[in-house]
Amino acid sequence: MPAPRLNLYDLTREQLRVQLVRWELNPVHVARLWNYLYIELAASLDAMPELPPKLRARLAAETHLGVLPTALETASSDGFTHKYLLALNDAEKIETVLMRFTGRVTACVSSQVGCAMGCVFCATGQMGYTRHLTPGEIVAQAVHVARALKNVAGLAEAGPKPGSATPATPRARLRNIVLMGMGEPLHNYDAVMTAIDILRDETGLALGAERITLSTVGVVPGILRLAKEMRPLHLAVSLHAATQAERAALVPAAKKWPLDELMAACRTYSETTGRRIFYEWTLIEGKNDSEAHARAVGELLRGLSAQVNLIPLNPTNGYAGTPTRSDAAKRFQKILAEEFDLPSTVRQRRGIDIAAGCGQLAVAEAS
Ligand code: SAH
Ligand code: SF4
Repeated sequence: MPAPRLNLYDLTREQLRVQLVRWELNPVHVARLWNYLYIELAASLDAMPELPPKLRARLAAETHLGVLPTALETASSDGFTHKYLLALNDAEKIETVLMRFTGRVTACVSSQVGCAMGCVFCATGQMGYTRHLTPGEIVAQAVHVARALKNVAGLAEAGPKPGSATPATPRARLRNIVLMGMGEPLHNYDAVMTAIDILRDETGLALGAERITLSTVGVVPGILRLAKEMRPLHLAVSLHAATQAERAALVPAAKKWPLDELMAACRTYSETTGRRIFYEWTLIEGKNDSEAHARAVGELLRGLSAQVNLIPLNPTNGYAGTPTRSDAAKRFQKILAEEFDLPSTVRQRRGIDIAAGCGQLAVAEAS
């Protein structure tokens, strides 16, 4: 059987250089190839005219460019959120979201097909787990969004600043990545970290460490490994409840990684890296949005370097909850601020009409 073709998006620049050496080619050509891949965002070998013939022949014979074809694209009614259903080469599909707001462009990328963690309010969790994505499949999502920004007129206009009537319009390029799409990124640790290394490469997409946020359901060994390896990224931890019993009812993974172990890992992470952690809290009316809940999370996070991101529940077919109303969300925030000096934000609701909000991604062919 012939060896499987290398996906060029799977390789870091250094791995690509080593591959050129293996092919007995001058590694200096890695610069041009990398430029085609991540600056020009070439979608095929034909779009890379100035490669040395020997390198081109190797690439044609032994590699492929894992561009992900769009199976379906939808845009929110305000035009600021685009959702792409992308086809993988084994007929599986994933979703990637482009969001434009506050004058910046963010890609929300998936790390798995489905998810094994089963959070009760999450559409991805309701699908179950199919497989991990490869580094190249994660990188290709960012490239897809960067290419859309480059090619589609008007798309690179940044969205409005919240509360302002006039849209901010500087041409924007992809600057922010959130690993908050389908899947649990720390369940697919190695592929996700290789993808981040590729996305951060300064001669390529050059995404700054301050611009990459990884959200985890609370995979304790993964958080400790991130701390040990001093990975340069922002960490967000999905908390949703401040007691083990309440959390386990929403997040089954809490049975494996109980709240006290999770908080100990978060403390280690912040102490080792000096970084603040974002704690995500999906606000569900009557479930976890009372004043007592606000005080419980305040107590839980006391003494930690923390910010709370409140996400009013987005609707999914499999869960009957209702999002917290904005006055109750404001009261929650006020308690965190005034009684615990804890900063918080309420996530802007974006793309809900096309099911592109947090927890709504589930490979819908039609929406
Ligand atoms: N698996 C990771 C990242 C993907 S989910 C994690 O769970 O953190 C990204 C965020 O969306 C998480 O905080 C998750 O709890 C939240 N979320 C999931 N379903 C949601 C829903 N229906 N409404 C609002 N937020 C949701
Ligand atoms: Fe998986 Fe995150 Fe959804 Fe939970 S919220 S099921 S961890 S994608």
